[in-house]
Amino acid sequence: MKLYTKKEECCGCGVCYSMCPVGAIVMQEDERGFQYPVIKEEKCIGCLKCVKVCALKARRNCVYGERYERKKSNL
Ligand code: SF4
Ligand code: SF4
Repeated sequence: MKLYTKKEECCGCGVCYSMCPVGAIVMQEDERGFQYPVIKEEKCIGCLKCVKVCALKARRNCVYGERYERKKSNL
């Protein structure tokens, strides 16, 4: 599971990292020194808090955000 597919879908704010209840997200530096979140699958419990708090995903401009919206509408 990824929090973004293209770098335009993530500004590296780290809010998802801060909000994950089980510490499943780490911020990893790319080749230019910017930090991006990576989900450790083995720790993730699938709560989707990281998606809910992401301002960029709220705009539904990425695949993961759209999946979350679909899941929410099925509740
Ligand atoms: S909250 Fe969204 S924009 Fe911020 S680091 Fe996480 S995925 Fe990227
Ligand atoms: S879905 Fe929940 S447990 Fe998994 S990375 Fe996101 S906030 Fe953490």
